[in-house]
Amino acid sequence: MEGKDVSYLLEVNDLETSFFIKGVEYNAVDRVSLKVRKNQVIGIVGESGCGKSVLSLSIMNLLPKGISRIRHGEIIFQGKRIDTLREEQLNDIRGKDISMIFQEPMTSLNPVLTIGDQLTEVFLTHTKMSKKEAEEECVLLLKEVGIPRPESVIREYPHQLSGGMRQRVMIAMAIACKPKLLIADEPTTALDVTVQAQILELLKHIQKTNEMSIMLITHDLGIVAEMCDEVIVMYAGTIVERADVCSLFYHAKHPYTQLLIHSIPRIDEEVSSLSTIDGIVPSLTQMPKKGCRFVDRCPKAMRECREVTPTLSSYTTGHDVACLLYEQVAR
Ligand code: SF4
Repeated sequence: MEGKDVSYLLEVNDLETSFFIKGVEYNAVDRVSLKVRKNQVIGIVGESGCGKSVLSLSIMNLLPKGISRIRHGEIIFQGKRIDTLREEQLNDIRGKDISMIFQEPMTSLNPVLTIGDQLTEVFLTHTKMSKKEAEEECVLLLKEVGIPRPESVIREYPHQLSGGMRQRVMIAMAIACKPKLLIADEPTTALDVTVQAQILELLKHIQKTNEMSIMLITHDLGIVAEMCDEVIVMYAGTIVERADVCSLFYHAKHPYTQLLIHSIPRIDEEVSSLSTIDGIVPSLTQMPKKGCRFVDRCPKAMRECREVTPTLSSYTTGHDVACLLYEQVAR
């Protein structure tokens, strides 16, 4: 299916991404659909193992080969389907129109190449700049992301920089070609709180000046409140709630979202112990075949929750939820 709605920068329709474990195929992302508008910051939240990172790797087509695949659905970027592109066609888009920053820059930066070598490569791959022009552009870019003495940093290696500086270098690499979509996968998790705040400020600033959309993947709802326009909550590979950021924080409907919000410590309340969500996300091999995937952890579970699989339905305009409590109301 080609010729899509170009009013959205990115559309993911009915995506299923699977992994093969001992010869059996399991969906890590299960029938996920979402849309990202131009200039929008969309947050994807949920605990580890909820499918957030697999979703982002599917969009970038960076899934591990041989053990995983996009099983069903389509991914459309700027009106064109990209999940069916060949590797060399995708290379024209990745790093240029869509780029990604990861949680731990030390695993993404090459330890044996200087910062300058790694940054210039982005320009040399995606633009017609000469090596000298690319180096000049690198210095400007490092300045833009707040790196002091960029002229000497381009000659240094990743291990010579602090964690915060390495993350700034990653951001510089990701925005070098002014991408239209930046996928940021837990971009501040490995950083201490003050550096985290600086990096979030930097991302906000870049998003506004470059008029870029950001898909922010995080388990931290505090970051979502700070950065996002819209939030998608994922649980066990599926979307369980989707709303604008205010509706989500003030009128969360899904019991999982409510528990996630309740687990954030508040500065206006005395905290004697932190709230947690009992249990763990079911593993791929232990995913319930029917019913609600949250049932074993849900304080509001009903008998039919083990039998009937909830579907993501509109609760109010722009606010969708997948929970039988609300399907009952609608029935
Ligand atoms: Fe809880 Fe049932 Fe809603 Fe699932 S469908 S979240 S188990 S109330």
